[in-house]
Amino acid sequence: MCLGLLFICSFLAFTAAAQQKQKYVMVIHGGAGTILKKNMTPEKEQAYLGKLREALQAGYDQIKAGKPSLDAVQAAVLVMEDSPLFNAGKGAVFTHDGKNEMDAAIMDGKTLKAGSIAGVTTIRNPILAARAVMERSEHVMMIGRGAEGFAKEIGLQIVDPSYFYTPERWNGLQKALAEDSVKAVLDHGNKSSELKGTVNKDNKFGTVGAVALDQAGNLAAATSTGGMTNKKYGRVGDAPLIGAGTYANNATAGISCTGWGEFFIRSVVAYDISAMMEYQKLSLQEAAAKALAKMEKLGGDGGLVALDNKGNVTMPFNTAGMYRGTVTADGQIDVNIYR
Ligand code: ASP
Repeated sequence: MCLGLLFICSFLAFTAAAQQKQKYVMVIHGGAGTILKKNMTPEKEQAYLGKLREALQAGYDQIKAGKPSLDAVQAAVLVMEDSPLFNAGKGAVFTHDGKNEMDAAIMDGKTLKAGSIAGVTTIRNPILAARAVMERSEHVMMIGRGAEGFAKEIGLQIVDPSYFYTPERWNGLQKALAEDSVKAVLDHGNKSSELKGTVNKDNKFGTVGAVALDQAGNLAAATSTGGMTNKKYGRVGDAPLIGAGTYANNATAGISCTGWGEFFIRSVVAYDISAMMEYQKLSLQEAAAKALAKMEKLGGDGGLVALDNKGNVTMPFNTAGMYRGTVTADGQIDVNIYR
């Protein structure tokens, strides 16, 4: 009898421990796109995986210390913004005019407060500006020079635009410009075809994002990007648009998207996932798969990372690869690139 009880108790303890282990506390991405192993050197692959691990560790340290999920997503995004590997902050892609115009957003799942900035060229860490918009202004979104003035006023680090130059991204722009001019010649200057070439969808990967669940059960999501190579006319993508590329709600999930922004905007992907969970009672996995399929049907590509209020995670994408990683409550880190 006693032995039987002991067995049941240990079995329950073991199951509880196993469940605890499987609870995810953070998920991140470093962009989705035509990321193929054949185009990657082992050194570059290790550099990406190492940075993803570093970002996850930075976020996890915040959660472990009992800090809010907002601090965790901010910490992870900062690591990736400061790395030239990703299309955010230091490694941002170039616009058609040879500038780096960045977008970022952050959202608090507990209060549904959000902050975002778009088209900024001098703020070293766009995610800090997005958070300041949320916490230190009465607005949700600021753009361009106004956002930069605000960031300067509150003491964020302002840099010369040349800080964001990287040879890889510059070469990416030159390639896109060459492709554009070939297209324009072939189309004999047909206006609508020219406009189709305003962004280069194969040279955009590297947007960064994070979703975290803290010890108090609060979710937060953050996304930061340079947008798409060769973008024109002050184009803004989905990342800073609350509900399109970024969303968090304690009642459902936190979501950060990456991919061809125009399609994520039109499909309102991040909020669509939350709404399906809230109104149709779909699971995180089901809702994310459906939202991505709807976006894909319109002709878009990309992926997303999402974490629900129970610690379930999903990372669907319809591209060749997506830089991504997770960390569980016990600190176990897992990072991946390809399918
Ligand atoms: N979604 C971003 C944008 O369209 C780009 C990306 O995620 O690669 O601006």
